[in-house]
Amino acid sequence: MVRRNLITGGAGFLGSHLCDRLMQAGEEVICLDNYFTGRKDNIRQWIGHPRFELIRHDVTEPIRLEVDRIWHLACPASPVHYQFNPIKTAKTSFLGTYNMLGLARRVKARLLLASTSEVYGDPEVHPQPESYRGCVNTIGIRSCYDEGKRIAETLCFDYQRMHGTEIRVMRIFNTYGPRMLPDDGRVVSNFIVQALRGEPLTLYGDGSQTRSFCYVDDLIEGMIRLMNGSHAGPINIGNPGEFTIRQLAERVRDRIDPSLELIHHPLPQDDPLQRQPLIDLARRELGWEPTVTLEQGLEPTIAWFRERLAEDG
Ligand code: NAD
Ligand code: UDP
Repeated sequence: MVRRNLITGGAGFLGSHLCDRLMQAGEEVICLDNYFTGRKDNIRQWIGHPRFELIRHDVTEPIRLEVDRIWHLACPASPVHYQFNPIKTAKTSFLGTYNMLGLARRVKARLLLASTSEVYGDPEVHPQPESYRGCVNTIGIRSCYDEGKRIAETLCFDYQRMHGTEIRVMRIFNTYGPRMLPDDGRVVSNFIVQALRGEPLTLYGDGSQTRSFCYVDDLIEGMIRLMNGSHAGPINIGNPGEFTIRQLAERVRDRIDPSLELIHHPLPQDDPLQRQPLIDLARRELGWEPTVTLEQGLEPTIAWFRERLAEDG
């Protein structure tokens, strides 16, 4: 029997790549989105396909559907968007996850939560293993997202303990690739778009803070293995290659136009100083590790943005 998948946030960056993978595998996909940061264009290749359905819905409201698997990705991911309406972000994290877990319980579906490395906050332990409990500000501008994802994880494990709901919790580290929004403020898209427009690249702070960047194809492979496997998580999925933001800016600039300037903007509040996943658990439990280096992943990403900006004129 063909498996029926619900992907919340399915028209977003990661969700649309997941739609592609599941559709290519011959499964049924229901893509649910409120289009806050998602775009129909991301999934237009599947519209009209007999195994594909599109639902405009907000996960803060309950919904009844018959599905086997729920991939719960709905939530804005970039700081600019999740801080736009922080109360809505907190509602999406809590009520959205609560509603999806309620659905999973009712129809006995397995639910995968797209959690985040932000549950570690500004970490004092480096690199971060899943056992690290984090250092998160409860009242700052990132808290709606960080604490939202923390309570979402808590809900998953309480549904598992109380109702036997099958859950998978994935802690996603910074991921990039085609279909990121050009204006969503995340660092990879910002630098690429700035460089393609011939503008200076904006380093927040002195650019010495670090991140680890995972190419989207690797991430989706890890997500699918986690859903198919038997480990509930939480499991870190990310690329352990760690770069300062300055190094990233230099690599992007040198690939597009080495004459461009790097300029400084103030560092936003609570911006984590360092971030790198320990992925031993994913290697052991899922047989997964990333295969695409930053250099390899930047190429198709830059090519996609080049085309996108040309279309926009
Ligand atoms: P995205 O913003 O492109 O996608 C989120 C999608 O959810 C969008 O299509 C948006 O319209 C939709 N959405 C938001 N609120 C909704 C609501 N209330 N109801 C229905 N749909 C709603 O972001 P993304 O990068 O694709 O992230 C997907 C998931 O992965 C998010 O849960 C995010 O927290 C998590 N994550 C992503 C990263 C990353 O680096 N990309 C890192 C850590 C965690
Ligand atoms: N950043 C930057 N310039 C930009 C956008 C972001 O220096 O134009 C920095 C940001 O301050 C952070 C890092 O890049 O230290 C990653 O930012 P992003 O918003 O992509 O993700 P997150 O902070 O959630 O990891």
